[in-house]
Amino acid sequence: MIITANQKPQTENPAPGRPREHCGIFGIYGHPEAARLTYFGLYALQHRGQESCGIVTGDGCRVRQHRGMGLVPEVFSQPLLEQLPGHLAIGHVRYSTTGSTMLINAQPFVVQHRGHMLAIGHNGTLTNAREIRSRLEEAGSIFQSTMDTEIIVHLMARHQGDLLESLIAALKEVRGSYSLVLLTADQVIAARDPRGFRPLSLGQVNGSWVVASETCALDLVQADFWRDVEPGEIIVLDAHGLHSHKPFEPVAPNFCIFEYIYFARPDSHLFGQSVYLVRKRLGAALAREHPLKADLVMPFPDSGTYAALGYAAASGLPFEMAVIRNHYVGRTFIQPSQVMRDFSVKVKLNPVREILKGKRVVVVEDSIIRGTTTRSRIKALRDAGAKEVSLLVSCPPHRFPCFYGIDFSSKGELIASQQEVNQIRDFLGLDYLGYLSTEAMVEATHLDNQDFCLACFSGNYPVPLESDFSKLCFEEDICAPGQPEGIPATCERK
Ligand code: SF4
Repeated sequence: MIITANQKPQTENPAPGRPREHCGIFGIYGHPEAARLTYFGLYALQHRGQESCGIVTGDGCRVRQHRGMGLVPEVFSQPLLEQLPGHLAIGHVRYSTTGSTMLINAQPFVVQHRGHMLAIGHNGTLTNAREIRSRLEEAGSIFQSTMDTEIIVHLMARHQGDLLESLIAALKEVRGSYSLVLLTADQVIAARDPRGFRPLSLGQVNGSWVVASETCALDLVQADFWRDVEPGEIIVLDAHGLHSHKPFEPVAPNFCIFEYIYFARPDSHLFGQSVYLVRKRLGAALAREHPLKADLVMPFPDSGTYAALGYAAASGLPFEMAVIRNHYVGRTFIQPSQVMRDFSVKVKLNPVREILKGKRVVVVEDSIIRGTTTRSRIKALRDAGAKEVSLLVSCPPHRFPCFYGIDFSSKGELIASQQEVNQIRDFLGLDYLGYLSTEAMVEATHLDNQDFCLACFSGNYPVPLESDFSKLCFEEDICAPGQPEGIPATCERK
């Protein structure tokens, strides 16, 4: 195996105050430029994770990998891709929902498995990870990382049988959400948990099989969408073609409805529906539930744009881009030496006074998590002369944490778990605040209520949780980046 890696300083959240994406995965079998196509696939999936990324390739004999901290074009270069030959590859972009931000937690994660190299990339969160890890550590297992994903390979190592049998045995022990890609020197395997929380699509390009978290990645590598990997399905891609296995008891699906509302790219198809069209229908449903007298409808770029288009079309109100985004702002910038009012809001988003002055404005947003960023943005609209500001949200209030792969894992992070709607309205400085009902949200997807996970709205968790589950639950003995060895990273522990 050949390993290369680069360690960059941790970068700040590019969208502070917004829920952060979890991870994106990509896999390809049977293409002479597997690493290059994986690079493009990860490029298309960058919105799902910006902390780290990696590509692992196989050529039938050897496994090679490169992982690094940062965005895909920061980590990979043309010469680096040339050092990753092979006709099969998997890749991963990561934002950590378990385990902290450091290179040892970058994926795909690569281990020796019965004398062969095995790589794994994971999108999701295992909800019984702590209990399994404690049990494995008591039995002598030594873990390299703080990720829940590593548990899967330790469980595989404890089972006899071939790779597929070991994987099935391991997946029967874990609970929670997972879409996976695995790679050996001559095989790619894709798997999706029985409830199908996270998306995973299958396509083909020039006879090569491709799997990706979202269809926008298939589009970029010019692969034709074939079908979704089904909940509970394991797909093996090798020299004999594609083999589908369904080893789990069928259960009702629980697709993450928040993928439609916020996470997925609008040009993707998820769970059989166009994300773009679902978002427009969410906006139209808002117009039916909250018909407001106003002069214009607007989004804050780039949240709520498609729902705002839907609201404008259904209500007949004009749609305006009354706030302009600076597309060239990096993830960090030098702060001004003197106090400049609302600097960090305005450096990214600047209101257009001529559009807003004296107007009654309806802003459409996809979610309110903490509320602090929204409050600053509303104030900026008022400062620009808006006469009335109403805010409509294209989902119900987020009152409960997510434990299935999204980054709001405690109630304290959610304003709606602490305050009633009228209190949130006053905190945000609004004239009116309205949320979409659960019924209208589900109806806009054109799927059934029973198909979804709605836990962050309802508190009904479809998969049981460990009582003390937390993102950084394995962190006791791990050093944070920049800390001397041996000093526990207690400052990172929740
Ligand atoms: S709790 Fe919410 S964000 Fe998490 S999987 Fe369920 S619907 Fe998605």
